[in-house]
Amino acid sequence: RMRRWQVESRPEIDTFTPGLLALYESLKPSEEHKSKQNQLVDSLTKSVSKEWPDAQLHLYGSCANSFGTSHSDVDVCLEMETGTESTAEALLKLADVLRSDNFDNVEAITSARVPIVRMSDPASGFSCDICINNLFAVANTKLLKDYAQIDQRLLQLAFLVKHWAKLRGVNETYRGTLSSYAYVLMCINFLQLREPKILPCLQAMEQTFTMNVDGTECAYFDEVHHLQDFGADNKESIAELLWAFFHYWAFDHDYRRDVISVRMGNTISKQEKNWTTRVGNDRHLMCIEDPFETGHDLGRVVDRQTLRILREEFERAAGVLQYNDDPCVTLFEPYD
Ligand code: ATP
Ligand code: MG
Repeated sequence: RMRRWQVESRPEIDTFTPGLLALYESLKPSEEHKSKQNQLVDSLTKSVSKEWPDAQLHLYGSCANSFGTSHSDVDVCLEMETGTESTAEALLKLADVLRSDNFDNVEAITSARVPIVRMSDPASGFSCDICINNLFAVANTKLLKDYAQIDQRLLQLAFLVKHWAKLRGVNETYRGTLSSYAYVLMCINFLQLREPKILPCLQAMEQTFTMNVDGTECAYFDEVHHLQDFGADNKESIAELLWAFFHYWAFDHDYRRDVISVRMGNTISKQEKNWTTRVGNDRHLMCIEDPFETGHDLGRVVDRQTLRILREEFERAAGVLQYNDDPCVTLFEPYD
């Protein structure tokens, strides 16, 4: 199949790299931010251990996968025996415990696909999502963190894409656009598909790490310190990659046919996954396979209207980077 992404970026595209890298640096969380996060985890550990002394606390999401900005929330997973209690009952009890320990805005959201307690910490001002025994999230957090250590262009690209998505209003799953997690998977898959490749496919390599989650083996090569030079033959700059990322999602991705798969380091067909017909609310218009929960399409929240909005935003972004005089500003102009 012809790939249109051999279209070239503008000749002077590299001149925008320093500006983009400066923006990336400014988005990285400060030491102060990290120490506040650790304090929150400490006080949470105290609260939880009163009711569940054997519970283990895992950080997941962007506070642990290295894709967190100074605006990211704190995601915590409790690993514990719930006995005869359902997860929902345990979460309601947890909400009571947290309220009595003076956390703010405590709310148990038990109807979500992954039920959570959401709250905010008065000391740091951070908001925090707590789930119970969702060890898939712990496994995918480690996978993302390991990918981030292979080539620094992944973190740079993903920070810029997440920042863009937040400002352009396309990082809201409850409104039919994509989660931060989905954007990071899009970035990983994109870098797996560059020529020469910038990232390998860790799940297709020797399995040096494995974790069994509800009967599913989450296994991959995690000795990433051996892969430090993996992307060295590819000299593309961050400006070029950011442009190519948007160009791919605006013009080259085959939305009708393809699913992006970090697990395979490639795209695979919807046919192969049986994601061709709508089942319930799952529309499969833009398909992003979860690396471990492979039956889970992270794009299932996207409907016809939000797909149009997303594609228009990808097109706008590619166009701004191609033609605008001051792309580092225009690209991130808030949408309202
Ligand atoms: P942000 O910086 O925006 O908070 P994040 O990486 O924490 O980014 P979230 O969308 O808050 O992203 O998700 C937190 C974690 O929850 C993800 O890293 C992933 O492990 C898990 N997760 C989020 N959305 C999904 C989903 N739709 N399916 C499976 N796991 C998900
Ligand atoms: Mg988060």
